[in-house]
Amino acid sequence: MDFTLSDEQTQMQESVRDYLESEGGIELARRQMDGEDVVGEVWDGLAEMDYPALSVPLEYGGLGDDLLYLSLLFEEAGRVALPGPLPETLGFTVPLLAELGTDEQKGQFLPAIADGDLRASVALYDDATESLPEAIRMEAEPTDDGYRLDGTKTLVPYAESVDRVVVPARTRQDTGYGGITLFFVDPAAAEAEQLDTLDKTRPLYELTFDGVEVSGARLGPVDGGGDALERAIDRLNVSMCAMLVGGADEAVDRSVEYGKQREQFDKPIGQFQAVKHRIADMWLDTEAARSLTYYAAWAIANDEEDARRAVSAATAYCTEHCGELFEDDIFNHGATGYTWDHDGHIFLKQAKTWANLLGSPTEHRRRIADIRL
Ligand SMILES: Cc1cc2nc3c(=O)[nH]c(=O)nc-3n(C[C@H](O)[C@H](O)[C@H](O)COP(=O)(O)OP(=O)(O)OC[C@H]3O[C@@H](n4cnc5c(N)ncnc54)[C@H](O)[C@@H]3O)c2cc1C
Repeated sequence: MDFTLSDEQTQMQESVRDYLESEGGIELARRQMDGEDVVGEVWDGLAEMDYPALSVPLEYGGLGDDLLYLSLLFEEAGRVALPGPLPETLGFTVPLLAELGTDEQKGQFLPAIADGDLRASVALYDDATESLPEAIRMEAEPTDDGYRLDGTKTLVPYAESVDRVVVPARTRQDTGYGGITLFFVDPAAAEAEQLDTLDKTRPLYELTFDGVEVSGARLGPVDGGGDALERAIDRLNVSMCAMLVGGADEAVDRSVEYGKQREQFDKPIGQFQAVKHRIADMWLDTEAARSLTYYAAWAIANDEEDARRAVSAATAYCTEHCGELFEDDIFNHGATGYTWDHDGHIFLKQAKTWANLLGSPTEHRRRIADIRL
């Protein structure tokens, strides 16, 4: 693997960064926290620059880039804690549709995503306290012309700002990822209730399906969508890791800047070892998180044998270490760090939420051991 980014990739990152800064940067996240729905606004802007087309295959009007390329976009999005279902739509749904969709489904949805006209999310959990894949419990009942969904999914990101949601349900009694069928459903058919959650930049919902008929919405084989779903969850994990890396990079920059400016005892505080060493450790953690994330993205894109292990290594490391790193950034800013005005809180809450959303660090370490042993 060549770890050096190409000129094109570097230019893409810079143009996304410039664009997001020009749109207000972290203020977009603050506006979302204040209850404004900024998702549509962000999406329109990103679509003008063709970013929703990045991972869509060429034949469906996209740019056909892989997860490594996409991770660079997520890193920039993460630098400003950008609201919106970017990982869910581009990291999760697009490759899943490309893999499992019928020609008709691909023709209908992929160009729409590339044009910025369709956003998607995923409804994995029936029980917020249970781990994946056991948390997937909803049963889909066959009807004359399709299936019927009954039950409540929870922890669904952006359910009210998306056009479709991937809903996995059990169509055969089985364990793990067995017996799962996927449906690509309009969330308007369900009742959505926003949950009171820690990270206000990424609203999560409960979606209740009350006998919702989903004829024509099946994505992929009956009983056999589990393997593709697991791979899609891996891609979503890498996408979120990349966002955490972007936020971590930003936190290091902020701590360095403050360390140079803020003086105590006639010296910039960055000259005291307690501060200097902490920032050096933050930087090391960021670089390790970035390397693990890029490797996982590359391994998935290239179908490497150790891709699943690489995803879990990146997820366990990023969610744990980036969380600590955001706390360190708050410490480095002294009293101001403890006020709500400090951006560190936004990143810390994101990291804490993501540390459990798609498997805890412990679960990912267990998966590494299971694959390895
Ligand atoms: C809610 C709240 C209530 C408060 N109430 C009081 C109060 O009642 N009375 C009061 O006096 N103060 C109070 N404070 C202020 C608090 O004491 C200061 O936050 C503290 O003195 C640190 O100063 P600072 O915030 O300016 O951080 P800075 O001096 O900017 O320090 C930033 C970081 O650098 C580190 N650092 C600074 N100097 C050194 C050094 N020489 N060696 C190693 N590390 C260093 C700090 O540990 C910190 O991690 C309060 C703060 C808050 C948030």
